Amino acid sequence: MNGVLIAYGELFLKSEPVRRRFEKKLLENIRYWLRKNGIEFKVQRKRGRIFIETKQFKKACEILRKIFGIVWVAPCYHLKTSNLKEIQEFCRKNYKNWIKKNESFAVRARRVGKHDYTSQDLAEVVGKVIDRKVNLSNPDKEIFVEVRDDDCYIYLETLKGYGGLPLGTSGKVVSLISGGIDSPVSSWLMMKKGCEVTLLHFHSFPLVSKASIEKVKELAKILSEYQRIIKLYLVPFHKIQLEIKTKIPAKYRILLYRRFMFRIAERIAEKEKAKALVTGESLAQVSSQTLPNLAVIEEVTKLPVLRPLIGMDKVEIVDLAKEIGTYEISIKPQEDCCSLFVPKHPATKARVEVVKELEKKLKVKKLVNDALKNVEVLRISK
Ligand code: ATP
Ligand code: MG
Repeated sequence: MNGVLIAYGELFLKSEPVRRRFEKKLLENIRYWLRKNGIEFKVQRKRGRIFIETKQFKKACEILRKIFGIVWVAPCYHLKTSNLKEIQEFCRKNYKNWIKKNESFAVRARRVGKHDYTSQDLAEVVGKVIDRKVNLSNPDKEIFVEVRDDDCYIYLETLKGYGGLPLGTSGKVVSLISGGIDSPVSSWLMMKKGCEVTLLHFHSFPLVSKASIEKVKELAKILSEYQRIIKLYLVPFHKIQLEIKTKIPAKYRILLYRRFMFRIAERIAEKEKAKALVTGESLAQVSSQTLPNLAVIEEVTKLPVLRPLIGMDKVEIVDLAKEIGTYEISIKPQEDCCSLFVPKHPATKARVEVVKELEKKLKVKKLVNDALKNVEVLRISK
């Protein structure tokens, strides 16, 4: 095999100029990640496909699969011809390497461009020279033959990519990350939708150890396998928490924590020119994530609050976390800032008016500004 064929999806739904912009970004991302991993390659663009000519096709496939916007990749033979006879001859010479004696097969042909034969003809011509049992509905092996203009691509399997949109085509978001299982997944899902993600973590050091900071750094490192460089904001939260602990009844504390987080997040988003906030909240998973409480929390910000996990079950989230590679880090024990000074059963149906009244006891602006003065910003890359 002499390369990798790449299929990309959702882009087709867009208008021509938007599609071109997306293709450009996808190609830029492909070039970046292949170079970064030391792959030698040449790129050939085709409508709806990209072909990467490279000897290191196995390693390239593994890298390409993780690039958003790519639906599948296939280790592949590239023939610089659309001539039926030549394609047939190639398959005749090689099929014994593809299909064992006792195995059945099917040819899946596809054709794009102007040719004097149909894809049906193509399938028949290739099938004819393969001396194995045909089984179209449930074959042991499939031979994919794609003719596109003057090129032919032949492959035997496709490896699924994540789909989505090329990273960098959907603008910026600020994603709140806790060190738990959920928020790395929600951050990743936004990347998958083409957003550049800036991470924001609130920590309670020195009230607790620096464990959550170390965890979040490790998580950011994993996420930087998908986005080139990740900016991670670390914001000290303990002063706000101590103030809340002193003045606010226990059952409301978690909601106030969250409201402060969103206020600070909004300010950071402004600075980063990010257009939305992202959380790992999933409806009713914990008491702070009931519908009334989500409303109370987001009341402090004008930015859209995106919650990619809102309709997902915990098992689905865990499966994704394992797939992404964040799970093992997320489950390491840590003292969560949000469990500090918080009772077992916080309010589940808080009302905005009540919470606002309580907040009058606090110097909200000053607390926010003080926290912002002490942020630390890291740039994390693989
Ligand atoms: P996670 O697994 O992401 O911690 P969770 O189900 O445990 O989520 P919570 O701990 O209630 O839920 O947090 C809900 C969301 O609030 C998190 O997904 C995250 O987006 C945000 N969040 C919570 N704690 C922090 C923190 N210390 N720093 C930044 N964001 C946080
Ligand atoms: Mg958590």
